[in-house]
Amino acid sequence: MIYLDYQATTPLAPEVVKAMQPWIEDKFANPHSPSRWGREADAAIENARKLVGSALDLKGGRIAFTGSATEAINWALKGTVEKAPKGRNRVITVATEHAAVLDTCEWLADQGVDLTILPVEKDGLLDLDLLERELDERVLLVAVMMVNNEIGVRQPLTAISQMAHKVGALVLADAVQAFGRVELCKGPDLIAISAHKIHGPKGIGALWMKNGKEPAPLIHGGGQEQGLRSGTLSPALCVGFGAAAKLADERCTRDYDHVQRLSRAAIAALGPGWIINGSTAHRYPGNLNVRREGVDGARMIADLRDIAFSLGSACASGSGRPSHVLRALGLDYREARSSVRLGFGRYTTQKDLVEACDRLAKAAVEQEKLDA
Ligand code: PLP
Repeated sequence: MIYLDYQATTPLAPEVVKAMQPWIEDKFANPHSPSRWGREADAAIENARKLVGSALDLKGGRIAFTGSATEAINWALKGTVEKAPKGRNRVITVATEHAAVLDTCEWLADQGVDLTILPVEKDGLLDLDLLERELDERVLLVAVMMVNNEIGVRQPLTAISQMAHKVGALVLADAVQAFGRVELCKGPDLIAISAHKIHGPKGIGALWMKNGKEPAPLIHGGGQEQGLRSGTLSPALCVGFGAAAKLADERCTRDYDHVQRLSRAAIAALGPGWIINGSTAHRYPGNLNVRREGVDGARMIADLRDIAFSLGSACASGSGRPSHVLRALGLDYREARSSVRLGFGRYTTQKDLVEACDRLAKAAVEQEKLDA
């Protein structure tokens, strides 16, 4: 199989597997127990927290581990609304956000939050003038994704944070696709990340919180994670997250350069007729969302079963609905259906990627002939 679905998840790094091994096989103590073994597990978790913190490279905040980025986002949104000062009841987000943000915001709107979902321009970027006009003293939180999971477009979170802070609003950044892949924008108050997008294990994410901006707890219980997120932590998952973050930090430039070379090779191999969805200037190059007149993306996935690629987010792929992100760019139903997402990264070889793109290009021509 040629794996081109790096936005859905990434393969575990061998270094991560090695780091996790003792915590799966032998070291089973509860990290919150006072025994020597418990303290050893706790120390391993704190070391992992430090490694994730170093990779984030942000000042004046702390990290709490969660079960996923989805949980971190739910917590950030719901917990911030719970602590909202009187008179701040507006949440602003963007039409191209992940379901973890959009669905939680819709849920909050049902509870009485005044929700604004801003459209994006044809290139997937948020119009900052539009945002400026929406911002006022009633805005509690602005939630924007740093790198889009479907089209790779990078939003200017530093500028967005400055604008939001001027009216006293907080900023939540979904940095799931950005962390470990690009330099993070400075400014957001709350940042959600996930281990499995950076060659770490599934089942663990984190929320970085600026000091004093911590949301009210979402999960109550034993008071773990400084009373903010109850539940016994998994040393294996935390250690795996830490090892993955360290590796991503060390290899950041190397991985980015590799992905940039791969992107150029993929575009060349696809050949003429393909259009890149979303901005070509403001993007993460490891995400290539492309369309071609006459292509049926779903059929292409069925035809090329030994290549793992997708139509958009893994969550939406099974639904049969065209991607809300592509629709937000203004693509019509047919254009959205003719789009596929190729995601590649650290362990993708140029040979595999070029072979896959050659076969995609051939399959597109075959489809065209059949439909003619
Ligand atoms: N946000 C973005 C942009 C994502 O790509 C994903 C995963 O697909 C998530 C949030 C959710 O992350 P997790 O799988 O850790 O819940």
